[in-house]
Amino acid sequence: MTSDVRHHTPLAFTVAMSFLMGIVTTIAVYSLRNAPTAADVSEVHASTAATAIGDGVDTAGAKDQRGAATPEPAATVPPAPVSPTEAGEIVALRARDLKLPVEGVDRKDLRNTFADARGSRTHEALDILAPRGTKVRAVEEGRVQKLFTSKAGGLTIYEFDPTQTFAYYYAHLDRYEDGLREGQMVKRGDVIGYVGSTGNASPDAPHLHFAIFRLGPEKQWWKGEPINPFLVLTED
Ligand SMILES: [Zn+2]
Repeated sequence: MTSDVRHHTPLAFTVAMSFLMGIVTTIAVYSLRNAPTAADVSEVHASTAATAIGDGVDTAGAKDQRGAATPEPAATVPPAPVSPTEAGEIVALRARDLKLPVEGVDRKDLRNTFADARGSRTHEALDILAPRGTKVRAVEEGRVQKLFTSKAGGLTIYEFDPTQTFAYYYAHLDRYEDGLREGQMVKRGDVIGYVGSTGNASPDAPHLHFAIFRLGPEKQWWKGEPINPFLVLTED
């Protein structure tokens, strides 16, 4: 009898606690899903970053957005915060001494257009204005992973660095360098194409849309986390 009572008391207590924990968990989950906090902001950033590089072949939503590149920003938004990971990558990329991809352009002429709005997205790239036909050079040695034509980016090149850590994306090209092909190894400074306005760039303002992405473990050329090229190519 006594043991029965002792048995029932903790059992009831356990049931009650389980019930309470269930409520608490539900409330917590609900709060996380609905609270308009910084978590939401980073989630938006993450979902943007994880989508297709350039003009994704498998992400319809992203397809016409990135690579979108009128050189004039539609609106200026505050610079995106640089995460510790991204900061480390910027340091690592600076150490590689990347070549400026557009012939005749000086580092001091670059403008930070990474965080500019492009429709409903952020630009996540660097626009470098230059006359049509200006040489575009590989920023680092690497492999021409993909030559891709898309509605937004026009004629584009995806280059992987030798360690396949990063992808360099060159868009709106007028044309490729003669003979350029997928799988080709290029050296730093090799001419790979020419500045143009293919895709959704304004014909009046030819420019190179240049982006850098950290590739995921699967090394898919259309996927990566964007890194601000302006911070890599300019000195503080
Ligand atoms: Zn652009």
